[in-house]
Amino acid sequence: MKLDRYRIDPDDRGAFTRIDPEDSGPFKDKAAAVARLQSGVERLALLQERLYASDRYALLLIFQGMDAAGKDSAIKHVLSSVNPQSTEVHSFKVPSHEELAHSFLWRAAKALPARGRLGIFNRSYYEDVVVVRVHPELLGARRLADDLLTRKVWKHRYEDIASFEKHLVRNGTVIRKFYLHVSKEEQTRRLLARLEERDKLWKFSLADMEERKYWKDYRRAWTDAIAATSRDDAPWYIVPADHKWFSRVVIAEVILEALDSLDLSLPKPDAKTRKELASARALLKKNL
Ligand code: ADP
Repeated sequence: MKLDRYRIDPDDRGAFTRIDPEDSGPFKDKAAAVARLQSGVERLALLQERLYASDRYALLLIFQGMDAAGKDSAIKHVLSSVNPQSTEVHSFKVPSHEELAHSFLWRAAKALPARGRLGIFNRSYYEDVVVVRVHPELLGARRLADDLLTRKVWKHRYEDIASFEKHLVRNGTVIRKFYLHVSKEEQTRRLLARLEERDKLWKFSLADMEERKYWKDYRRAWTDAIAATSRDDAPWYIVPADHKWFSRVVIAEVILEALDSLDLSLPKPDAKTRKELASARALLKKNL
């Protein structure tokens, strides 16, 4: 599958118009995509084990998208077979008092995956350059001094994010960022389904209705944020999300491609360790 068409080059501002939310790539229907996802998910479990055992890299996956774009279900399906013991999912909500008293990257820094582990951010510090940009009154909650609150605040935050991610990459964290690109029409259908289907009602929030009014502002803020922070070593993918079965395959394949590019060979025991292992084996055999 051609994944590059969803990968955003630095400073690319045309991706949202170029990428069709309804795109389903080479798949004509759900069945073929589901079969492909299944084999991808199984391979992902094997590669994650290698990631853990080789203990050299961490993998950070960031999921963003408008409400009902399918972030939660993509995480559930794509990562259904990974080992929960070496995986952490963090959902970033409206910041707490304590979080607001620190820099906007603080809470994310605390939640980063350690070497060998897989970290999933369901929303992230990108909210601080998107929802806060769409609703600038939210900036006030950080009580920044006037001379720090200039018109350049967004540009500075993009730079901070890019440097933060660069720092992580240089220290062995592999980063992939996914924006689930759903059309407004499909979002309407999904929100309506939440209201009409009893087992989906719990997902409905009036706040999501309110945010729909700012669709264009969100699109503008995301265009800027993605163009400013997509880098060759920490790329954004704008994933068509009107067909959930397609977005899941794209996400799985991007993760597989990232893991395949790493040297996940297992650490080789040195001479002393080999000797110790040989005596352990001999001891165990004696006990048989
Ligand atoms: P979700 O929609 O992710 O399932 P919620 O319905 O609780 O979960 O939504 C989380 C909300 O928190 C979103 O509206 C999001 O914009 C908001 N949020 C996340 N991070 C921030 C932030 N840094 N500043 C303000 N709001 C934020």
